[in-house]
Amino acid sequence: MLARIKRSVAYVTIKEWKKAAARKVALPRYLGSELACPVCGVHLRAFKPIWKSYLRHAREFGYVHSVYDIETLNLAAYSCPACDAADRERLYALYFDRILPTLDRTRRYRLVEFAPGPGRALQRKLTANPFIEYRSADLVLQTVDDRLDITDMRPYADASVDFFLCSHVLEHVRDDRKAMRELHRILKPGGFGIVMVPLVHGLEETQEDPAVDTPELRWKYYGLGDHVRQYGKRDFLARLAGAGFQVDQLGLDYFGKDPFHRAGIADDSVLYVVRRE
Ligand SMILES: [Zn+2]
Repeated sequence: MLARIKRSVAYVTIKEWKKAAARKVALPRYLGSELACPVCGVHLRAFKPIWKSYLRHAREFGYVHSVYDIETLNLAAYSCPACDAADRERLYALYFDRILPTLDRTRRYRLVEFAPGPGRALQRKLTANPFIEYRSADLVLQTVDDRLDITDMRPYADASVDFFLCSHVLEHVRDDRKAMRELHRILKPGGFGIVMVPLVHGLEETQEDPAVDTPELRWKYYGLGDHVRQYGKRDFLARLAGAGFQVDQLGLDYFGKDPFHRAGIADDSVLYVVRRE
C-alpha cells in the first residue's frame, strides 16, 4: 500500500515536471504586452484555449447544457501558458490583489485552500506573503498539509480560519450542505471564503438525481464524470445562505473592465465571496 502511494506521488511529480517542461518550450509564442497573468505575473499576448478533449467529451457525452453558457469559464483564454492558472484562478488572484494590501502585516492570517490543483501557482503567490499562513486540505491527495473530509473537519476548531478557497469542490461532495455548514463553522467572523462551483447561465435550480450514477450520465447531465450535481444559481445561493453565510457576487462592476480583459477573464464571470457575522 505504502509503495503504491509512493509510486503515485512520484508519478504525479514526473507528470507535472513534464507538463512544466512543455509549457516552458511553448511559452515564447504567447509572450507579449497586452495581457498579464495576475497569478504568476507573466506578460502575454494570449492565454491558451481550453484543451480540445474537454470540448470533445462535452460533445460525445451529449452534455445537456452548452459549454459556452458556463459561468466563469473562458474557453478561448482558459489557461496561463506560464503557470497553467485557469481563468477562475486568475479571478481569485485579482481579488487577493485587492485584499492583501489592506491586511495588518503585524499579524498572521490562516488561509485554507481545499483540493488545490496540481499547478499550485496560486499557492506560490499567496505564500510569498509572510503574514499568510497557508494550509492545503483534501480528502485523498497525498501532497496536502491536512488530510480531512470537508463534511467533518474536526481537525479545524470553530472560527479558526481567516480565509478559505473552496473552488470546484462542492459539486463533487454528496452532502454539500453539511460541507457548507462546516465551512461556516471554521470561518472567523470578519473573514471570508471564496466558494465557486460550475454554474450555467440561466439555470436557477439544481439538478441532482440519484439515478445519474455513472461517469457517462454524470458527464451528460452535470458536465464532468465525477460531479454529483449541476448547480443552479438560485439554489446554490440558497444553500450557502442556509449554512449561515452572507454571499457577495463580484463581477465586472467590482473589478473593472480593463483588469478583467487584461487577465483574460470573460465579462460575465462572477466571484462568490462568503462571510459570516
Ligand atoms: Zn500565470
